[in-house]
Amino acid sequence: MITLRSSNLQYQNLENHEPFIIRISTNAMLPEPLRAGVAYLISDEPLPDGFCVYLKVRDPDRKETLPPHVAGVTLPEEFSYLSDGDVIRLSPRGRSIRVLYRKGSEFNHFLLTERCNNYCLMCSQPPKIADDSYIAGEILSTIPLIDPGTKGLGLTGGEPTLLGEGLIKILEACETWLPRTAVHLLSNGRRFSELRFAQQYANVRHHDLMVGIPLYSDLSHLHDFVVQADGAFDETLRGILNLKHLGQRVEIRVVIHKQTYKRLPQLAEFITRNLLFVDHVALMGLELMGFARANLDALWIDPFDYQDELVAAVEQLVAYRMHVSIYNHQLCVLRPNLWRYSRKSISDWKNEYMPECEGCGQRDACGGFFSSAQLKHSAHIRPLSRA
Ligand code: SF4
Repeated sequence: MITLRSSNLQYQNLENHEPFIIRISTNAMLPEPLRAGVAYLISDEPLPDGFCVYLKVRDPDRKETLPPHVAGVTLPEEFSYLSDGDVIRLSPRGRSIRVLYRKGSEFNHFLLTERCNNYCLMCSQPPKIADDSYIAGEILSTIPLIDPGTKGLGLTGGEPTLLGEGLIKILEACETWLPRTAVHLLSNGRRFSELRFAQQYANVRHHDLMVGIPLYSDLSHLHDFVVQADGAFDETLRGILNLKHLGQRVEIRVVIHKQTYKRLPQLAEFITRNLLFVDHVALMGLELMGFARANLDALWIDPFDYQDELVAAVEQLVAYRMHVSIYNHQLCVLRPNLWRYSRKSISDWKNEYMPECEGCGQRDACGGFFSSAQLKHSAHIRPLSRA
């Protein structure tokens, strides 16, 4: 989600309007009865009548404005990516716009809450304690506007299960309005230790739902240290067991950093001995955002320096026929025998390549970097040959 508040954002004939969520159309031929609930993104003149709102992305070479009689917003050039089917939240009084959904992106995520009951050392979205329960209502208003052909949708936080019934309603809305869309939920899994809540979640009977749950160590005290919450390891494990008992799909996520890399092989062994029935294991590189920046010295290790542990963990999981993926790593840093497990996992809007990548023959296959890797990245980035 991208929020912009700017003096470059000019609302017209909407100034006192409450915030509202609306889908964009570029179709000037849209049947008139459908136009009242749609924002028309202007590309050509003349303007079709009857749309709720008109959006104009400013062209720096031309001095056009919206016709004075229409309600609309003039947007800065950086919004030129907006297109048909996208969903936005307009806040005239706050002079802001938030892009909630992009039809052309494979990486649409909804942040359900900023609250969390963990306080992870490397949290990229540091928790806040403010009441943000209004977000769930906004998401419930957005889901019916999303293109039903959308392949996948992510639900993140904070900790989404803190919404309780609110999360269940959002999952039910996804099942109702998006019957062909896979949903991936990120959760620390602790709330699922309550069998009643896990049962409510299972009762949604979503057609394609996976929950990604982090597990950082085979040692309870080390996991609890990483998430800064006593007892979290036990609750997370009980949550995973409840979910699998109820036939739910579960992915284990391991973020690799200085506190977790040494015991990766032991964690992999723990998973194969105790959690062999989970559906996927994702071994993930660190994103240097939020607390990860503040705790950089305690967390940063060059991924080149943990390849022995990563290879051992992957070999253990694969030997037990588990589905394994490596996320957020660059191919030139990974040992070649790990490449087949590497996925392009970084959301398009924060995915970059470095100057060192110039001329690399594997760039199309490589997932590249988070934008935040400008701060620090492996010292072993080197262009690879095509073969
Ligand atoms: S040089 Fe850049 S594009 Fe090539 S493998 Fe390394 S990180 Fe990826």
